[in-house]
Amino acid sequence: TAQALAEWDAPIQVCVRKRPISKKEAGKKGFDIITTTTAVHPHACAFLHEPKLSLDRSRSIVTHPFHFDKVFDEYAGNDLIFQTTLQPAIPKLKEGKNVSLFCYGATGSGKTHTVFGPEGGRGSATTAADIGLYHYACSQVFGVAAEMGADVFVSFLEIYSGKVVDLLNNRQHINLLEQNGNFIFQGLRESHASSVQHCLQIMAVGTATRTTQATDSNSTSSRSHAIFRLELRVPHTGTTSLLTLIDLAGSERGVDNPSASAAVRREGAAINKSLLALKECIRSLHVNSNYVPFRSNKLTCVLRDCFRAGTCIMVLNVAPTNLTVEQTMSCLHYANRIKEY
Ligand code: ADP
Ligand code: MG
Repeated sequence: TAQALAEWDAPIQVCVRKRPISKKEAGKKGFDIITTTTAVHPHACAFLHEPKLSLDRSRSIVTHPFHFDKVFDEYAGNDLIFQTTLQPAIPKLKEGKNVSLFCYGATGSGKTHTVFGPEGGRGSATTAADIGLYHYACSQVFGVAAEMGADVFVSFLEIYSGKVVDLLNNRQHINLLEQNGNFIFQGLRESHASSVQHCLQIMAVGTATRTTQATDSNSTSSRSHAIFRLELRVPHTGTTSLLTLIDLAGSERGVDNPSASAAVRREGAAINKSLLALKECIRSLHVNSNYVPFRSNKLTCVLRDCFRAGTCIMVLNVAPTNLTVEQTMSCLHYANRIKEY
């Protein structure tokens, strides 16, 4: 049940979410190669059943088990994901702590669906299972803010091609300045949101900007990291806390593709670097190290506050079929290594 799933609570959690098979995959005769246990740590496990074809043309299946804090099968909706990952962490905001959730995975694995809902928040969610996590998060954060007497500020940015752009302000470039160990986003629009509805209205502008090419697997949205932030500020105490949701660039972007143009390969290399830097930061959070190497990359600079005093949740999104077996395997390894120390 959602209750049982929510109970396991750690400073960092790594979860895996398998999406349903799509019509397109079924049309290409894709078959399901992922099975999951429907349990939480220490029993949560995703199995990848790798089809093998030997030299003598005999077929076999090799099963690889991967352990996580939580696993979600194709029947889990965004409502369940929210209830069991973010929701239990949100009260931490009251203590001035930060809460963040990252979706990691290949293009087409369901990251944007998880964070922003169908069509990246542009389409209208019809069921509770469809509403993006950012929407659920807004609904709860305003309750917490009222209890704290905090004002809520929303910002929405994207890292694309090594540049930080403001999605709430015409894709204006943002400079990252470091001052006394703090990063300042020069010119970033931080809109004061007075209610959940107001916040969603503000965000509608940003999601529309982002999803204009969402159906194209080569679109900028698959090559950029999108970062949604809600900052709670208590005026008389100066306490701030931050909730951050991140829809990362497609993990396959870093894979060497000899047929890609030089520019595309450079971009892929930059994405690869940022995802590696992210892994290092999450890992040092995990081992409680005093040193978090966030400075090494723009993505991790922007996320520095998430790595301080907070709860961090990583969701690995995976597509279910044999058509993407290599990508899925490499993502499962990436997510798994984050848990090791
Ligand atoms: P990504 O952002 O990782 O590239 P998307 O979120 O765009 O992937 O998902 C690809 C497609 O699969 C979209 O059409 C999306 O609506 C659909 N999809 C993803 N996850 C789910 C899910 N859990 N349930 C139903 N459809 C999903
Ligand atoms: Mg996407």
